[in-house]
Amino acid sequence: MTGGTVIVGASLAGLRTAQHLRALGYADPVTLVGAEPHLPYDRPPLSKQVLLGEWPASRTHLVTEGQLAELRVDARLGAAATGLDRDRRLLTLADGGLIPYDFLVVATGSRPRELPAPNGGPHVHTLRTLDDARLIAARLGPGRRLVVIGAGFIGCEVACAAVARGTTVTLVSREPALLPQFGPDVSSYLARLHRDAGVRLLLDAHVRSVGPAG
Ligand SMILES: Cc1cc2nc3c(=O)[nH]c(=O)nc-3n(C[C@H](O)[C@H](O)[C@H](O)COP(=O)(O)OP(=O)(O)OC[C@H]3O[C@@H](n4cnc5c(N)ncnc54)[C@H](O)[C@@H]3O)c2cc1C
Repeated sequence: MTGGTVIVGASLAGLRTAQHLRALGYADPVTLVGAEPHLPYDRPPLSKQVLLGEWPASRTHLVTEGQLAELRVDARLGAAATGLDRDRRLLTLADGGLIPYDFLVVATGSRPRELPAPNGGPHVHTLRTLDDARLIAARLGPGRRLVVIGAGFIGCEVACAAVARGTTVTLVSREPALLPQFGPDVSSYLARLHRDAGVRLLLDAHVRSVGPAG
């Protein structure tokens, strides 16, 4: 039997690859390997509707188990790929399982940049996954203080969602202006919007370390 196509990374790119293979008439086995235990989900709502508490996690799912079964996609979720034997065309999973393949697609996405000094402890979170978003969402609210490091789109969205939920928010950026790629007019407009919403902006600020909560 053919090993078919094995896709590592069960998020948007991995799922769309599986769906399009079937749409193109590919009939061999398709296996979708995902490190996270969840069905493929959409990340954009994580920093918006999920943090605002407007959407349950399930609403971010891009597909149901039934739809994956209809597509004849074998989803191995909660199973990180840890090794590859290219000569024998074998993928190794964290639990020691081996998956043979004819074709391998790597769709493992990206990770947040780490802090320069990763000494923050249990109060420091990154936002990349559904579990991250749920954890952060549960900690927002009146009486809570949040520092957001990184003022790109996601940082700005987190700051706005948190302040809308009554959290005291400081947004730190190493850039001298907010989203400077849009030019000075848009940048100062966005800075005003954030300040008016109650977000404290610290621009041109470089984080050296993160200590325990005071
Ligand atoms: C909070 C947030 C908000 C965003 N908002 C927007 C937005 O508004 N608009 C927009 O255009 N984009 C937005 N993005 C970006 C968008 O979500 C990404 O571009 C998109 O998720 C990329 O999809 P991907 O499948 O390539 O990678 P990813 O979504 O990063 O998925 C990669 C998957 O691979 C898995 N994986 C990694 N290593 C392994 C391994 N060894 N074994 C098995 N699985 C593995 C990971 O667990 C992950 O599920 C946002 C991203 C985040 C985090």
